[in-house]
Amino acid sequence: MYKCNEARLKESIVTFSGFGATEKGGVTRLSLSPEDLEARKYFVECCMELGMAIRVDDMANIYATLPGKSSLPPIVMGSHLDSVLKGGKFDGVLGVLTALEAVRTIIENGIELDVPLTIVNFTNEEGARFEPSMMSSGVLSGKFDKEKMLKSTDMDNVSFKEALKNSGYEGSEENRLEEASAYIELHIEQGPVLEAENIQIGVVEGVLGMVCYEIRVFGESNHAGTTPMKMRKDPLFLANHCITMLIEELGKIDDELVFTIGRMNVTPNIHTVIPDKVVFTIEARHRNPEKISKVEEIIHSLPSMEGGCKIEKEKLWGRDTVVFDQEICSQVELAANGYGYSSKRLYSGAGHDAQFMASYIPSAMIFVPSINGKSHCEEEETTFEDCVKGADVLLETVLNLQTKAALKETLI
Ligand SMILES: [Zn+2]
Repeated sequence: MYKCNEARLKESIVTFSGFGATEKGGVTRLSLSPEDLEARKYFVECCMELGMAIRVDDMANIYATLPGKSSLPPIVMGSHLDSVLKGGKFDGVLGVLTALEAVRTIIENGIELDVPLTIVNFTNEEGARFEPSMMSSGVLSGKFDKEKMLKSTDMDNVSFKEALKNSGYEGSEENRLEEASAYIELHIEQGPVLEAENIQIGVVEGVLGMVCYEIRVFGESNHAGTTPMKMRKDPLFLANHCITMLIEELGKIDDELVFTIGRMNVTPNIHTVIPDKVVFTIEARHRNPEKISKVEEIIHSLPSMEGGCKIEKEKLWGRDTVVFDQEICSQVELAANGYGYSSKRLYSGAGHDAQFMASYIPSAMIFVPSINGKSHCEEEETTFEDCVKGADVLLETVLNLQTKAALKETLI
């Protein structure tokens, strides 16, 4: 089994964390910002040095391809180079750099590929500058409408369309990734499970389905000092009651369910005034659609009227669980075993480009541990040792998949 080069991978990670470096050791590399363009330029230079062919599509996704002997659709690896505001040095970029390290190892060892190998950098995965997140994989997979995406604007009112034009990375639609033998995305876990269980490789079987509701409670504003308790219609007291009930009931579903009350607005939010309106969100994630239905049932069982207050429940959005390709998952597991790295099958609670790619390309993901489970912050860390183990597994998986794909073609 081939091994990737830890020192070389470390150097790449350190170099890329210089593009948009923040004071406290993180990065701010918003999509198509000058910092992102620097990272893109350097990424393209690295790939060209390796003799890879570069193409860019109309969403500024970059594809670097190493040819193979057959004309089979490529095996694609990668992730995204953009970050959130004051994000970490590993989210996204690690998927691109481990792919680069895999290609370097292939070339260095003179491995001849049967199937072409492509590294992809997806534009605007984070959605931190232009909403929504996973914008470009969303367009590629037909989940999002490109024209709508072009109109998305950043905080300075610059549209995605303008940013695309000015970036110099507006390629053509015919360069889009239409067909691939497989898509494999390595990513940091962004959660605490692997580290807590001392596991080196996460075999990601899918992305959790989720549902998000907005609950609106209406009461009546009045003076905080002169209104007797019995005569109040206080929506915050009722919201509190609803939340307690939700926590209790959702908590009974099972240990795998995660739920969050992430946003709450109290109107008018003045300490001398009884509020007249409280709005909060409740979102829940689980791999099993039946459990999500149970969550919805519980939300709908909240009263519509109580203590003179009215309660409305509105479903803001939901997504079905995405199940990744079992064959690729098994290959990732086999590769980890082969190196003697511990592995665990798990689901991703966070969204990734792979979840959209999975709709038309057999896809899966590899997770490496996040120290203290931190992500989307400057403290985001993964040891270089774990990074290179991930790169090893990525490399071995890709090599095995391409042998299998070529074999299948000869048999046909
Ligand atoms: Zn990411």
